[in-house]
Amino acid sequence: MFTDLHLHTTFSDGTYSPEELASEARRFGLVAVALTDHDTVEGCTRMRTACESHKIEFIPATELTAEVNGIELHMLGYFLDVDSPKLLEEMKRFQEGRTERIKEIVSRLRQLNVPLEEEDVFGLAKCKSPGRPHVARALIQRKVCANLDEAFERFLKKNRPGWVPKQKMSAEDALEIIHDAGGLAVLAHPGLARSEEAIPALIEGGIDGIECFHSRHSPACCEYYVSVAEEHNLLITGGSDCHGMNKGKPLIGSIKLPYEYVRLLKERLAPDHYARQPAVSAALNNGSGII
Ligand code: AMP
Ligand code: FE
Ligand code: FE
Ligand code: ZN
Repeated sequence: MFTDLHLHTTFSDGTYSPEELASEARRFGLVAVALTDHDTVEGCTRMRTACESHKIEFIPATELTAEVNGIELHMLGYFLDVDSPKLLEEMKRFQEGRTERIKEIVSRLRQLNVPLEEEDVFGLAKCKSPGRPHVARALIQRKVCANLDEAFERFLKKNRPGWVPKQKMSAEDALEIIHDAGGLAVLAHPGLARSEEAIPALIEGGIDGIECFHSRHSPACCEYYVSVAEEHNLLITGGSDCHGMNKGKPLIGSIKLPYEYVRLLKERLAPDHYARQPAVSAALNNGSGII
């Protein structure tokens, strides 16, 4: 009984549709998955239906871009009420910021005489939450770059000519939005970048858990974060962070988190969690049993 709690689709910068992702989850025998697209929950409706058809439990989620003391971090929100007005309103603001950022990135690249149009990127992204991977794919399509790594190395990573900072919410706001939508807030991949330094402030702010298991964490790193989580009585999660095919194979299935961790997450939800979500209560009352 294994799960993967960090997955992306075409609703942000992944390349699988929700239906393709659910089929992959089935192929790897996963019993539960969470969809964690960046700054959106829009893919959750289709993903829930696709998972239902494979008898896979679905957890509506997202990955928010936040910061604390100038450190960028990604905050996962699990078991969200995807109809929460506050959540949707905040996300819309960030999606607009992402769209403006893409325009700025394209403009900078054009100043360098890179042959790229905004429409190349938006035509390829076809979603409300576009990001740098879409620019990278457009650069590959235009034959400016051979692969994603080259696009990030030459143009898109920090301090490269096409780099434009991303709009971020404070970690405090991210925690509040997730909790307000009935969700659990989990620090994503602390072993990447400098998010480790943010942990004391996040604990102070009421974070619920840490993503200890991640495809880019070494075994020693996973072990270290499990000890941090246990020390502070935080929940433990894990996921592959699959964005589609990666060097010939998808990352989904590379992290096999035992289902027990999902049970522990559910235990931590507010007692009236499902009662607060009309759509979910309706599904439960229907007897579909899949939430
Ligand atoms: P953005 O949200 O626009 O800042 O883009 C961040 C996303 O870019 C991450 O979620 C990854 O999916 C992707 N990414 C970051 N660095 C690289 C890289 N070197 N190669 C491929 N994808 C990357
Ligand atoms: Fe991403
Ligand atoms: Fe992330
Ligand atoms: Zn991610």
